[in-house]
Amino acid sequence: MKQIELRAHHLLCLQGYEGKGYSPEFVTEMSKLATMFAQAPDTTFTLINGADDICRNCPHLVDEKCIHPNPPEPQDAKVIKYFDLVIGEQYSYKAATDIIKQKINADIFMDICGTCDWNSATQCRSALGIK
Ligand code: SF4
Repeated sequence: MKQIELRAHHLLCLQGYEGKGYSPEFVTEMSKLATMFAQAPDTTFTLINGADDICRNCPHLVDEKCIHPNPPEPQDAKVIKYFDLVIGEQYSYKAATDIIKQKINADIFMDICGTCDWNSATQCRSALGIK
């Protein structure tokens, strides 16, 4: 099976995911991924920069580039910085999300996710264990 690829900020999105998304196809495929990681958290993925296996089903991905008005690159960079993650490394989903849950706090959450539309539409904050 092909190794799963994830961009950094999607490690937070996956934890807060509630079955909402950018298109029916996007929701179908992201739901599969989120369910698989929930049921088998030791599943590994490779951390990458740029379009990943979630972006591939998104209507905002055009020519391998995200054209969403709120560009994802700053969020990716902040996740890498705050949680000391390494592009190109292979992580288990559990290991990577444990690191995030141990280090995240309300200020870090707002710095990464404060401008995201899904922040107000979902319970990401509580899913990440932030009071
Ligand atoms: S909005 Fe951009 S970063 Fe988010 S899933 Fe779509 S293509 Fe990827």
